[in-house]
Amino acid sequence: MIRIHKGAAPEILTRLGPGHVEAHRQFYDLNATEIAAGTKKIPVAEHVYGAPEVRDALAQAQHGKCCFCEVEIEHPYMHRHVEHWRPKGGVSPVGGGRATPPGYYWLAYDWENLLLACVVCNSSNKGTSFPLVDEADRARTHHDPIAAERPLLIKPDEEDPAGHMEWIDDQPRGTTDAGWTTIEVLGLIRPEDVKRTRRFLEIAQAYRRLWKIHDVDDPTVREIAADLRRLLEAAPRPESPFSAMATAFLESRTLPPEA
Ligand SMILES: [Zn+2]
Repeated sequence: MIRIHKGAAPEILTRLGPGHVEAHRQFYDLNATEIAAGTKKIPVAEHVYGAPEVRDALAQAQHGKCCFCEVEIEHPYMHRHVEHWRPKGGVSPVGGGRATPPGYYWLAYDWENLLLACVVCNSSNKGTSFPLVDEADRARTHHDPIAAERPLLIKPDEEDPAGHMEWIDDQPRGTTDAGWTTIEVLGLIRPEDVKRTRRFLEIAQAYRRLWKIHDVDDPTVREIAADLRRLLEAAPRPESPFSAMATAFLESRTLPPEA
């Protein structure tokens, strides 16, 4: 997980979002009892928050990677889920279970609340979880202030996740409550994640090999050393897969001097 810098809100959100939010507020106020009972649902407009231009703007800001686990979201083989940081349709109780309506429906088209996540992070793990330090602070309708909430889920487009977690080889570890909770809610400890483990081994091996051959005076070996150095220099950049893991590995190490 790395810091994400989003640009301006896509036009469709600013053009159509406010009208839908106003309709949702009125719908909620007229149907609060039925919505709480689950017999009526706020008709959130997926064609607005999930519009191609919203997905594309998020994909660009996130270098085509999941906002949580940093896997490359390979379109069209993997779904690109527009993720609502504050869930739009209901919130799961702490420890899991059925989501309680109505969720943060008034933030459904809020650019600040949208991120792009992979199917494993969004559907298999996070779902409708949105843990808070104190459940009593939760905004339950659009009449409540969200400013009172102290979320335990890291918001990567607002702060640097590195302040909340560290890496032991290819697995993250929390260094704050929010770090641990985020790792747990998203299931980020993934020993079975072959892509991430393979990437870690690639970086670790490149590092060891570069130290071994960096001073060998042979044109072919020098070329190999240059390739390894390029791989290692690119690995921590935000556009590279699993760059938080790569940064953690390389920040405590020094590359050999160039021959
Ligand atoms: Zn993910």
